[in-house]
Amino acid sequence: MRESSEAAAVQPLDEWCRFDLFAPTPEHELLAASLRQFVEREVEGQASEHDRSETFNLSLFRKAGELGLLGVTIPECYGGAGLDAVAAVQLLEALSTSDPGFGLALLAHSFLFAHNLAVNGSEEQCRRILPRVVSGEWVAGMCMTEPEAGTDVLGMRTRAERDGKDWRLSGVKTFITNGGIAPDTLGDVFIVYAATGERSLSAFLVEKGMSGFRLGQKWCDKLGMRASFTAELIFEDVRVPADNLMGEEGQGTAHMMRNLEIERLTLAAQGLGIAQRALRVMLEYADQRKSFGRPIREFGQIQRHIAETYAEYRAARAFVYDTARRLSFRSAGQRVDADAGKLLASQVAKRAADAAIQVLGGNGYMGEYVVERLWRDAKLLEIGGGTLEAHQKNITKDLARDPSIVG
Ligand SMILES: Cc1cc2nc3c(=O)[nH]c(=O)nc-3n(C[C@H](O)[C@H](O)[C@H](O)COP(=O)(O)OP(=O)(O)OC[C@H]3O[C@@H](n4cnc5c(N)ncnc54)[C@H](O)[C@@H]3O)c2cc1C
Repeated sequence: MRESSEAAAVQPLDEWCRFDLFAPTPEHELLAASLRQFVEREVEGQASEHDRSETFNLSLFRKAGELGLLGVTIPECYGGAGLDAVAAVQLLEALSTSDPGFGLALLAHSFLFAHNLAVNGSEEQCRRILPRVVSGEWVAGMCMTEPEAGTDVLGMRTRAERDGKDWRLSGVKTFITNGGIAPDTLGDVFIVYAATGERSLSAFLVEKGMSGFRLGQKWCDKLGMRASFTAELIFEDVRVPADNLMGEEGQGTAHMMRNLEIERLTLAAQGLGIAQRALRVMLEYADQRKSFGRPIREFGQIQRHIAETYAEYRAARAFVYDTARRLSFRSAGQRVDADAGKLLASQVAKRAADAAIQVLGGNGYMGEYVVERLWRDAKLLEIGGGTLEAHQKNITKDLARDPSIVG
């Protein structure tokens, strides 16, 4: 009698210990395995070439579409996989162990655009647009930033005014990922935020071919994320049909805020991928490289780089996946931790890449060993999708409003 009740008490604890935060269900396990294969076979080999030439790899992007990787969180009725934010984080972590620049292009397409539309758009808009985006036929992006307004998003100057039932949209957006696909080739479809009243924003679906919509300058010579195409987009009195207003007039800020949670978590996941790869590279190198007749991993100062990076990576990884696990697409509600996860993971990534360069010495400084590219790519995470300072400001504001969040 005593034995069987002990067994009953132990059973749930065993189950609980087996819970895997990073692949909680068989679907996540399957996704992790296919991501490993895709990254190894298709992504790794092309990464440094596209970084050097500063070009977006459209054929690889379309292959990702064929494998269902462009719509992991999009409902199945629109061609997606219908998975959750944990799957989104798995995707961006895996891609960023190899090619964070390609990962950023996919992130802008799948999360800044497709996920945003799936949550905030109408049934008709989703049916018309999402299948072409999820397959990779169309390349998509999101336009918030302007030459005069980044962090201060409500200061944007792009305006949309009613023209009968339709709208007229004018302004300039900049630093838009997937704004172009190649020189002189515009991306296909964008969510564009514009002012439609005094401190009131609305979101519009602007498509290639709409008169007055064109590609401005391509930003060349970027520090990192060079495999993604960053461009300025120009809107000159673009006539946007009434059907292309996303949600209701004046709801733009609410859409933007709700989508920022998945945007920040996937950017944080890019930081995890960078840190993971940097750690693997430094571990292998420290084992093989000898100095004074011993592998350098036997030196305490090298051990410090490896161990500190490992501890920081594990902590950031647990935090980001746990926040993803709690994120519900309809109600959001993870604003503080999405900000905090990105604040942490972006800095962990940069420190990890920096430590890896240090462990590799002169070789770390050279392109062949990947870590210099990771270091350049990591810097973007401290700026894009919210600067470090913006996260610090948001987190402090939210905690001051509700100190019980702390615990
Ligand atoms: C490679 C790349 C890709 C990008 N992709 C996209 C995209 O697809 N779509 C898009 O819309 N945008 C995109 N961006 C833009 C990015 O989100 C912005 O660069 C970012 O939000 C910062 O805006 P900003 O560059 O105008 O800097 P600013 O807002 O001008 O900030 C300049 C400095 O001032 C600080 N600062 C500003 N306000 C405050 C404050 N209140 N308190 C303290 N410090 C403050 C900032 O933290 C920063 O250090 C991309 C940027 C890059 C570099």
